[in-house]
Amino acid sequence: MNKKFFMDYLPEDLLKMGIEPKFRTKQLYNWIYRKYEEDFEKMNNLPKNLRKKLKEEFVINPFELINKEISNDATEKFLFKLNDNHTVETVLIKMKDERIENGKKKEAKWTVCVSTQVGCKVGCAFCLTAKGGFVRNLSPAEIVAQVWFMKKEKNFDENKALNIVYMGMGEPLDNYDNIVKAIKIIENQDGLNISPRRQTLSTSGIAPKIKKLGKENLGINLAISLHAVDDKLREELIPLNKAYNIQSVIDAIKEFPIDKRKKVMFEYLVIKNKNDDISAAKKLVKLLNSIPSKVNLIYFNPYPGSPYERPDEETMKKFQKYLLDKGITCTIRESKGMDISAACGQLREKEIGKRDEK
Ligand code: SAH
Ligand code: SF4
Repeated sequence: MNKKFFMDYLPEDLLKMGIEPKFRTKQLYNWIYRKYEEDFEKMNNLPKNLRKKLKEEFVINPFELINKEISNDATEKFLFKLNDNHTVETVLIKMKDERIENGKKKEAKWTVCVSTQVGCKVGCAFCLTAKGGFVRNLSPAEIVAQVWFMKKEKNFDENKALNIVYMGMGEPLDNYDNIVKAIKIIENQDGLNISPRRQTLSTSGIAPKIKKLGKENLGINLAISLHAVDDKLREELIPLNKAYNIQSVIDAIKEFPIDKRKKVMFEYLVIKNKNDDISAAKKLVKLLNSIPSKVNLIYFNPYPGSPYERPDEETMKKFQKYLLDKGITCTIRESKGMDISAACGQLREKEIGKRDEK
């Protein structure tokens, strides 16, 4: 019998599967997501026969770590092998070091960049993940376990809240049901207990799915990969723009419930001589004027054979200054982990390349 992956299930699913009463599912969530226990046998407050049944039916860890790289800025990149031998990557980024603020000791801040698919269907012209085409969706367990593994690996305290960005490989809204389920499992208070307010979903702009997600009222943050302000260029960069143009994406965002203290994040990949001039910045300001927004400028990160070039720092700063002067919050994404090819998709490509050489 093929075993099931425990992390695919919410407590209510487990109850329906005959794992009851409710406090048992709570105990299980505690063991797995808070104590990072991988062996049912060791869950010593569960009856022996239940432990045996669970062990026969379920697997806890759905994948195997096969490569890890640490950059000199403390960004860590993990490559996992799934049970069908496909690979997927997760990036752990240290956003802030341990520090003293107002006389108080503050813990380091970490963000996990989570993948949602093996490959991607969207086929963006600048993206390495797109080059390998689409392979398959990740299951809820394979999404949840990326976060669980980071907490376990770093031995983080069970109450340590990480930030999660669904910005790894894949288009999360093309794997709609599984991503929604994963968000709920990660949120569960008896488990990882990471609030949706700390979870950000990034999409290339599948307008109807943005609307649908909005109606779920999950409380998550939304990031939109905009990258261009006119439809012609956006179509070149993101083919999906033919189906859902810029205006349709903006209209969908307007229906998305946004926490009063929060903003929608617009990611703008800056490519040399393509979308980096001030006239683009001007259009961007106009486009965003009806949405509480912040802009994240990203340096295009070249890879062998990539069709575009990285912009220089001065151009980035000028673009940023224009937005700031117009009152739009605008950050430049530091290229974390440049030395370990941390732009999503790049570690996996390297690994596949290595295998091809053998
Ligand atoms: N599919 C979703 C989420 C994953 S892509 C989306 O497109 O939003 C996550 C991010 O990786 C995107 O913001 C994209 O701009 C960025 N990215 C892809 N290729 C890149 C490259 N070559 N250099 C820098 N960022 C890149
Ligand atoms: Fe897919 Fe996002 Fe890459 Fe586009 S940028 S191909 S949507 S992963």
